[in-house]
Amino acid sequence: MALQFHQFSYMSDNYGVLIHEPSTGETAMVDAGDAASSLAALKDTGWALSHILITHHHGDHTAGLPEVKAATGATVIGPSNASIKNVDERYGDGDEFVFAGHVCRCIHTPGHTLDMLNFYFPDDGVIFTGDTLFTLGCGRVFEGDKPMMWASLKKLIALPAETVVYSAHEYTLANARFALSVDPGNSALQRRTLDFEQMRERGEATSPTTMAEEMETNPFLRAADPTIRAHLGLEGASDEAVFAEIRTRKDNF
Ligand code: ZN
Ligand code: FE
Repeated sequence: MALQFHQFSYMSDNYGVLIHEPSTGETAMVDAGDAASSLAALKDTGWALSHILITHHHGDHTAGLPEVKAATGATVIGPSNASIKNVDERYGDGDEFVFAGHVCRCIHTPGHTLDMLNFYFPDDGVIFTGDTLFTLGCGRVFEGDKPMMWASLKKLIALPAETVVYSAHEYTLANARFALSVDPGNSALQRRTLDFEQMRERGEATSPTTMAEEMETNPFLRAADPTIRAHLGLEGASDEAVFAEIRTRKDNF
């Protein structure tokens, strides 16, 4: 059956997501940053947690893991190249596992951290990108370097345009202000920014998004765009160098 999704917020700007397969009753949660919010989301939905999918080691994604695992007995899946405690099954780039009859392909997207794993359900057309790709943004590069982050984003650019993208933070209005500074003439970006301002006033989440919308408006995916290149004076540069310049400008924005 079709997967069902329940997104909930925690801390100041984090999102967690429950993934539910109604025919088997199995439920996975992406990350476990805060035990109380995670357990509240399970109570709200009435869903019983069977799996936890950990994207990376940062505390806002893992701090609640011991308590949620103890409370639910869920099987914990996480990146193979990290020493995160309480992980039962560890996977790397291209590894697949089956959640409730649905194939999940792990995509390693290092840059923000070296362990970052994204969870892609190809038959369902949905991906959980952690702190790699956000609505109108991308993660700050902490442990890797900018060429590494660009190589990771290229793996996401290769996904089908209709792919639905759930990310882990609500940073969209700040991302939009920056995006307009490097791509001011982009009418789709202008339109989305107005939509997002209204959504945030109503308290609505701006995640999930789609790869198609991000390819049209997210400057971190648009290093090949001639208008952005001209705006930056980088017409002859590599895509990697254009991405690096955009990321550097965001860091200093
Ligand atoms: Zn992080
Ligand atoms: Fe985070």
